[in-house]
Amino acid sequence: MAIVRASPRPLGAYRIARQSRVLGVPLAPNQVYRILDRLGGRVHRVETLHAYFEAGGQPGAITICRGCGRTRTLDAGCEPEVDRLCRAAGFHPNRVIVEVMGLCADCRGK
Ligand SMILES: [Zn+2]
Repeated sequence: MAIVRASPRPLGAYRIARQSRVLGVPLAPNQVYRILDRLGGRVHRVETLHAYFEAGGQPGAITICRGCGRTRTLDAGCEPEVDRLCRAAGFHPNRVIVEVMGLCADCRGK
């Protein structure tokens, strides 16, 4: 959890495992996956990056900056609207994930 918390960007399991070795608590990637599972709602998986970041509860839509890699959650999720559009089209989603790729304000200003 400390490794994920310290990173400004989402981290993949292999990167977390590498950083655990640097901290003197070596973990294999399969151990990292088990720990991430146990952390439950404290860590959120970014599906498009196959990486994890600290989250307080289940975040709604998230933005992912292609420049710096930072991930932010949006206060107002649009999942209900996506769910509604899917159902209107005759598709019943099990889970709606909204991840938006783009550039953050800092990276746009560079
Ligand atoms: Zn950025």
